Amino acid sequence: MVFMTLPPEAASLSLDEVLRIDREHLWHPYARLGGGPAPLVVREAHGTRLVLADGRELVDAMSSWWAAVHGYRHPALDAAAAAQLRSMSHVMFGGLTHEPAARLGALLVQTTGMDTVFFCDSGSVAVEVAVKTALQYQRAAGSPGRRKLLTPRGGYYGDTFTPMSLCDPVGGMHSQWTGVLAEQVFAPEPPRTSGPAWDEEVRRIAAEHSHELAAVIVEPVVQGAGGMRMYDPRCLVTLREVADEHGLLLIFDEIATGFGRTGELFAAEHGAGVRPDIMCVGKALTGGYLTLAAVLGRRGIAEAINETGAGALLHGPTFMANPLACGVAVASVELLLASDWRGEVARIEQALARGLGPLRQAEGVRDVRVLGAIGVVQLDRPVDVARATATAVRHGVWLRPFRDLVYTMPPYIASDSDLELVCAAIRAVTAEEGSSVG
Ligand SMILES: *Cc1c(COP(=O)(O)O)cnc(C)c1O
Repeated sequence: MVFMTLPPEAASLSLDEVLRIDREHLWHPYARLGGGPAPLVVREAHGTRLVLADGRELVDAMSSWWAAVHGYRHPALDAAAAAQLRSMSHVMFGGLTHEPAARLGALLVQTTGMDTVFFCDSGSVAVEVAVKTALQYQRAAGSPGRRKLLTPRGGYYGDTFTPMSLCDPVGGMHSQWTGVLAEQVFAPEPPRTSGPAWDEEVRRIAAEHSHELAAVIVEPVVQGAGGMRMYDPRCLVTLREVADEHGLLLIFDEIATGFGRTGELFAAEHGAGVRPDIMCVGKALTGGYLTLAAVLGRRGIAEAINETGAGALLHGPTFMANPLACGVAVASVELLLASDWRGEVARIEQALARGLGPLRQAEGVRDVRVLGAIGVVQLDRPVDVARATATAVRHGVWLRPFRDLVYTMPPYIASDSDLELVCAAIRAVTAEEGSSVG
């Protein structure tokens, strides 16, 4: 593949100017303004590589937060974006519709087995819409008092206020938001191996709060940004039964796990045929090109909401079903389905198990977990992110650890030598962090 490089005159800011403006004006995720070490300036990206302003190339072990499953500047996705730009990049979705939305809707319905699709801008908004749908459904069913959600601890659902209220109460720092966040009902973290203790506790909590619960929400099989934990898919069977017993909707947040990441197309497929009532997808939906998410539902929910006083789902973002994002998403999902994604993810799983497994015996390591194209090393102490980043960059790899977790979710196109580099970088970071004194 040949990638065109921008001519120098196209960049109108010097590297120093970019860094100065960034430092003085731009917020970064979970960061102080202008604080900490300067961010790395990325000039371009192609395949699995991020190209820095100084020409260094890094293997992206993060897929830009789980999203860029096909890597950067994939010819099929570039072509889809260019083609869509030639017809329209955006029109409103109120009273109008278009082929990219219809094609993506049909693809999602076909791949998930769900019936209805609500397109929105981001994962957090998708969770907002899923919760709103559940509450409107309960109102339609004559239970307006059912307003809370039951969710396992250890979860992550996004950064707007409703998702925040559902995130792990400790990891999500609920204590800083007392009186602001909606109160939800928490169950214990789903265990690695399911057993009667968790099962009985969840059933007890659900029964106690039944009258005020609208829905259950969970990330199937892998809890992502809440702690990169993998758990027994049989827990999903329990949650399905609990939902049915108490008249609750079951919401699966597949924003991180969807589109093959865990080794199944959707993580719920690991678990004994459990089907949700509502499902959220995002992140890898556009192959990491544009921000887009979707909330999928069962027809019965829409029918119930249609019959109520409001008679409509009361949500409608400005950029709903953005044609450019939908067009790229169609290309990304079609590319994925036409590829041997299952074989590629299995290959990555083996490489990560081989490259990270030996760390189980390493100093300072609490746990090593691998599932699909996800590899996690949990340390017994918090990671010094600046030091870890510098070490990974010296090894030619982009990593972004958090808390006590050094992890990778590489693009599915990562070659065996890319994966060796990634594992070597994680081993180097682990050796340094695991033996540090403070
Ligand atoms: C990232 C994530 C979200 C939030 O998505 P944004 O696009 O960042 O708003 C929600 N749920 C899960 C499981 C996620 O991983």
